[in-house]
Amino acid sequence: MKTLVVKEHILKANAQAAAENRAEFSRRDITVVNLIGSPGSGKTALLERLTKHPEVRFAALEGDPETSLDAERIERAGASVVQIVTQGTCHLDAGMVHRALRELSLEGVRFLFIENVGNLVCPASFDLGETARVVIFSTTEGEEKPLKYPGAFTSARAVVLNKIDLLPHIPFSLDRAVDTLAKVVPRTPVFPLSCVTGAGFDGFVEWLMELSNRAAPRHGGARVAGRSVG
Ligand code: MG
Ligand code: ZN
Repeated sequence: MKTLVVKEHILKANAQAAAENRAEFSRRDITVVNLIGSPGSGKTALLERLTKHPEVRFAALEGDPETSLDAERIERAGASVVQIVTQGTCHLDAGMVHRALRELSLEGVRFLFIENVGNLVCPASFDLGETARVVIFSTTEGEEKPLKYPGAFTSARAVVLNKIDLLPHIPFSLDRAVDTLAKVVPRTPVFPLSCVTGAGFDGFVEWLMELSNRAAPRHGGARVAGRSVG
C-alpha cells in the first residue's frame, strides 16, 4: 500500500518535469527520441551508425548505472553528448534529463536521442518529455521479448529489431518475431536492421525524418498557424 503511494508521488513529480522538458524541446524545435532496450541490444551502436546519416543531425544523452564509456563512443562518432551516470538507478527520469540538458550543446541539431539505461521494465513508466519512444531488441535476445515486456513495446512508436546480420548463425526466426510483434503491437512499424552492416537503416532513417517533420512543422505548419502571435 505504502509503496503504491510513493510510486504515485514519484510519477507525479516526473510528469511535471517531463512537461517542462517537452516545452523546452518544442521551443527549440527538436525531435526527441527516448531509446529503450536491454543491455547489449545495440542502443549505442544504433546511435554510432546514425552519425553516418548527416540528415539526422543529433545530440545524445547517455544513461548508464556507471561509467561514461558509451558517451565516449558517441563523441568519437562525432555527435555532441553528455553522459548521465545514475549510480545504480535502473532508469532515467525527467529531472535527470532536465539537469543534463544544461550541459549539452543543442546548437544546430534536429534530434536529441536519449539512450535510456539498459532495461525493458521501468524506463517504460517514466516520461522524459520525448517526442516518441523507440524500443530496440535484437536477434540474440529471442523472439518472445515483446510478450515478456509488453509495457516497453506498447508505449513505443517504432520497434527496431537489431542484429539481423547474425540470422544465418543463430536459431532466431524473423517470421516468428514479426508474428509476435503483430500480436503485441499490431500498428507499430518494425525495422529489422543491422548496426554492423547498415542493412535496413534507410527505412528507419526515413521514419525518423517523417517523425521530425510531423512533430515540428517548421514554416507555416498547423502548430505555428494556430499559435497566437503578436
Ligand atoms: Mg549503451
Ligand atoms: Zn528503474
